[in-house]
Amino acid sequence: MISHNDTLFARAQLTTPGGVNSPVRAFRSVGGTPRFVSRAQGPYFWDADDRRYIDYIGSWGPAILGHAHPEVVAAVQEAAARGLSFGAPTEGEILMAEEICKLVPSIEQVRLVSSGTEAAMSALRLARGATGRDKIIKFEGCYHGHADSLLVKAGSGLLTFGNPTSAGVPEDFAKHTLVLDYNDAQQLEDTFAKIGDQIACVMVEPIAGNMNLMRASPEFLHTMRRVCTQYGAVMVFDEVMSGFRVALGGAQALYDIAPDMTVLGKVIGGGLPVAAFGGPAQLMQHLAPLGGVYQAGTLSGNPVAVAAGMTTLKLIQEPGFYAHLGAQTRKLTDGLTQAAKDAGVSFCADAVGGMFGLYFTEEVPVTYKTMMACDKTAFNAFFHQMLDAGIYLAPSAFEAGFVSAQHDDAVIAATIDAACGAFSGLGA
Ligand SMILES: *Cc1c(COP(=O)(O)O)cnc(C)c1O
Repeated sequence: MISHNDTLFARAQLTTPGGVNSPVRAFRSVGGTPRFVSRAQGPYFWDADDRRYIDYIGSWGPAILGHAHPEVVAAVQEAAARGLSFGAPTEGEILMAEEICKLVPSIEQVRLVSSGTEAAMSALRLARGATGRDKIIKFEGCYHGHADSLLVKAGSGLLTFGNPTSAGVPEDFAKHTLVLDYNDAQQLEDTFAKIGDQIACVMVEPIAGNMNLMRASPEFLHTMRRVCTQYGAVMVFDEVMSGFRVALGGAQALYDIAPDMTVLGKVIGGGLPVAAFGGPAQLMQHLAPLGGVYQAGTLSGNPVAVAAGMTTLKLIQEPGFYAHLGAQTRKLTDGLTQAAKDAGVSFCADAVGGMFGLYFTEEVPVTYKTMMACDKTAFNAFFHQMLDAGIYLAPSAFEAGFVSAQHDDAVIAATIDAACGAFSGLGA
């Protein structure tokens, strides 16, 4: 039988590097042929062979309402009919900024952009411009998009600045980035004691979702808050993934910690390109046209994208939305954990709001090193068995998963049912 996915993938590779427009879609980590999506609705998408899958990536987070939510689609159609882009301000952008400032109290002013990468890159420039310092701190395993300064891994020792993780990133850029260990409060404290007055900002995923799901320890984030304040460094929460996903107010609401700057994306666009960075007005005033830090964008605050984002932000504020989302996600991880136990597979899971992590190991990892020690071979076998059963998980052992409000009990039960089969294949 001819697979249309195979045919499309072969064709895509002729005109697109690796056949995809973003690397993880290529299935390199798990092997096999990517599924080309033809349409999606609620918790499902259909591939080029018209096979239906229960979707647990939801566009890597944005599809929190389920795919093609009728109200979001209607808002997009209505906005599109009024014109696609103007290069001049619209009232929709004010409404969106007001909504973000209301939902995330640490943000007084916000600038809209089109991708998480752009938002993180701009936040970094703003932090550097406002402090007059060049050095930044990030943590191994956190992803903040693909700006040069952020594609950096740890150097060979503490206080050695980083090395590029990508060809094309000049060493001269990487050397301003110090990469530390996630959840190591002492190392952060020691680092600040030595060079705190050179640090422009610390950027962190307060709940990490790009090395699978990993919670920050409260101590780690509280230490970060304290040393950033003490040394005048800007504390940046990259909540592109966790924002409006783990809770309405993001991870900062769960931990009750106010960062100096927040980076948002994914959910706030509801599936169209909207991202943002924001913080206290006094910091944001450093941006052009008021201040000396330049930042701009032809499609920033695009009216169609903002319509999708605003409608999404409205719908997630309906009473009980997060209680339901969290309960469904918990049902999923509890069911999977039980199924693995029954099959005698070394496995555990964690969930925060509508985001989850699956780990082929005994205990939920709290360090990058223990995360990387999870059994990748077991994950890959599990992934393919689930895919064959019509369940679409992230095609990598080190990515988080996402549940939407449309993942009802029947959908969760069907997933757990499939997992029972997949785990028993692994246990045997
Ligand atoms: C997805 C993501 C980004 C990058 O966003 P893009 O829109 O893909 O550029 C940045 N930071 C985090 C935490 C993310 O999850």
